[in-house]
Amino acid sequence: MIILFLGPPGAGKGTQCKFLADRYRLRHLSSGDILRRERQEGTDLGKQAQSYMDSGRLVPDDLIVAMMRQEIGAAADGETSGVILDGFPRTLQQAQALDQALRDDDKQVDVVLNLDVDDDKLERRITGRRSCPRCGTAYHVDFNPPRRANVCDRDGAALAQRSDDTAAVVRKRIETYHQQTAPLIDYYGHQGTLQTVDGNVPIEQVTRSLSAILDGCNR
Ligand code: ADP
Ligand code: ADP
Repeated sequence: MIILFLGPPGAGKGTQCKFLADRYRLRHLSSGDILRRERQEGTDLGKQAQSYMDSGRLVPDDLIVAMMRQEIGAAADGETSGVILDGFPRTLQQAQALDQALRDDDKQVDVVLNLDVDDDKLERRITGRRSCPRCGTAYHVDFNPPRRANVCDRDGAALAQRSDDTAAVVRKRIETYHQQTAPLIDYYGHQGTLQTVDGNVPIEQVTRSLSAILDGCNR
């Protein structure tokens, strides 16, 4: 099963993907997490991506498509029932390249989850986000605090704030989303695979809506 997860920055994609990946035995592939790992390791790709990420712009399509093709190929070899793609595709060109790559392998996108959150909520969600540098789990200082302040519940690592989670970069990321990523809602709407979920409500409520959709797909 191939699931895509669309939504603006800070909508709650990563938070929900962690849960869905555990529950449905899916491999969670977050393009943002993969890029941050490349940066940490100092690879060529990480260096090329750096200035785009720091300013809230998108990394060029050809770099992202090559990176994600490799990750999806590697995930297909693992013992999971599918993949959930978080943060990819983010442009029409990326979506078309993904469709083509899947067609070449006799595969297709099964469902596109679109997490809808009002713009005025996103800035507070992102500036209050704290993430685990080891496992990527996201917390929020008010809405989803860890059990011990600043320590990851899963692996005990000290939480960090992403360098691009500042108010100025957040505004640029939201603008980038509306210009380049929101058109994908129509693209997948026409394909008949799109399911939109209200992400303005508390985390557990969003999880219930998403689970109801995936339970329906598994039946
Ligand atoms: P994304 O991956 O879409 O950028 P995250 O999952 O990292 O978003 O969530 C952004 C921030 O908002 C995190 O701090 C997270 O704890 C918090 N958050 C996620 N979902 C909700 C929600 N439904 N209500 C309130 N806060 C949320
Ligand atoms: P968010 O929490 O805003 O959804 P991500 O962690 O998904 O952020 O992405 C962080 C940054 O990584 C983006 O602002 C962008 O620079 C880069 N990035 C991630 N995914 C993509 C993609 N599919 N295409 C281009 N750039 C990407």
